[in-house]
Amino acid sequence: MVTTTTTSSSATGSRSESESEFRPTGPGRKERVSPLLDTRGRALRDIRFSVTDRCNFRCVYCMPKEIFGRDYAFMPREELLSFEEITRLARISVANGVEKLRLTGGEPLLRKGLPELVSMLSELRTPDGREVDIAVTTNGSALGHLAADLKQAGLKRVTVSLDSLNDEVFQSMNDVRFPVSKVLSAIDVAQEVGLGPIKINMVVKRGLNDNDIVAMAEHFRGTGHILRFIEFMDVGSTNGWELRQVVSSAEVLARINEVFPIEPLEENYSGETSRRWKYKDGAGEIGVISSVTQSFCHSCTRARISVDGKLYTCLFATGGHDLREMMRGGCSDEELEAKLAWIWNSRTDRYSELRMANTPRQTGKRIEMSYIGG
Ligand code: SAM
Ligand code: SF4
Ligand code: SF4
Repeated sequence: MVTTTTTSSSATGSRSESESEFRPTGPGRKERVSPLLDTRGRALRDIRFSVTDRCNFRCVYCMPKEIFGRDYAFMPREELLSFEEITRLARISVANGVEKLRLTGGEPLLRKGLPELVSMLSELRTPDGREVDIAVTTNGSALGHLAADLKQAGLKRVTVSLDSLNDEVFQSMNDVRFPVSKVLSAIDVAQEVGLGPIKINMVVKRGLNDNDIVAMAEHFRGTGHILRFIEFMDVGSTNGWELRQVVSSAEVLARINEVFPIEPLEENYSGETSRRWKYKDGAGEIGVISSVTQSFCHSCTRARISVDGKLYTCLFATGGHDLREMMRGGCSDEELEAKLAWIWNSRTDRYSELRMANTPRQTGKRIEMSYIGG
């Protein structure tokens, strides 16, 4: 059963009473549902499901062709969590304080029947009856023809990755000659069907697309879409990451500010990974995700569930907890819930903090982003 308490959360140093959630437990009574807290007082609020490890792009920073070539062994279909299994895990997580679900991958739109999964997830409600925030991160290649179905299935938000407006640069980054124009038209379709405003993710890698920062800002200013610049990260073990290839968010902001003056905005909510800025002339908002230069481990409320149902408490983890095995072995919801609580309560992760402090980090082969979910 879900852990419940009527004591103040100050003992955990976590959320204030006003932020706490309440669950009706009987006529006229509401009982507070404690969020799951890890060893550093961070609540579990957000789960990302990788729904496929396959992708039609070979972005050089994520699935380089040399590694993810013709003979790369992707997960066989029967190994993937079914929609029912994903929904079951989501339901139990939501009952324990999770408010956001993101479907990612690999390329999530390649998973057959994705709108059906969205529709199943959109039935879920938080303990106090609110809708769950469901989002999809996509490379946009199939969004044009799926946007309407996804919207109809209950999707509220979509994040589209686009690293450059320059076709030569973009195609050298996706490495499959996919043109910019198709991603831009998919963004338009998503907006038209009501999935806007859309977040656009641009991973910035020095020497590759850093000259496109200002052009991207200029293009999306005034459109209502929110462009977010992501620092190139050392995820997985195959992308050949080096610190000198990282363009810091500070540099990105300085380059934009020179042309289009900006000023900082308040966080939308505590623990938001993207720091928000707005154009002083009112042309909208941008964000920076400084995973490398300004780590946000202290407020990281996110777990990831891999394509085959392993739960990872950090993007840089070397091992996960097999929930699929439990489910396929016939465990009860209570057992799954207890396992989830145990995993989260034991969590100590702060990889990015340790990276910058040059403290010894965990060794071992890290999990690839396409498998664990970016
Ligand atoms: N295929 C989808 C897409 O590209 O949007 C979803 C999966 S992708 C792994 C999720 C996000 O992770 C994308 O925005 C991608 O740009 C970002 N990403 C992938 N590898 C990265 C890296 N090494 N550093 C920073 N971001 C990365
Ligand atoms: Fe595919 Fe997304 Fe990775 Fe690019 S970033 S290779 S689109 S999973
Ligand atoms: Fe969260 Fe791990 Fe990233 Fe830190 S390094 S913000 S703990 S996923």
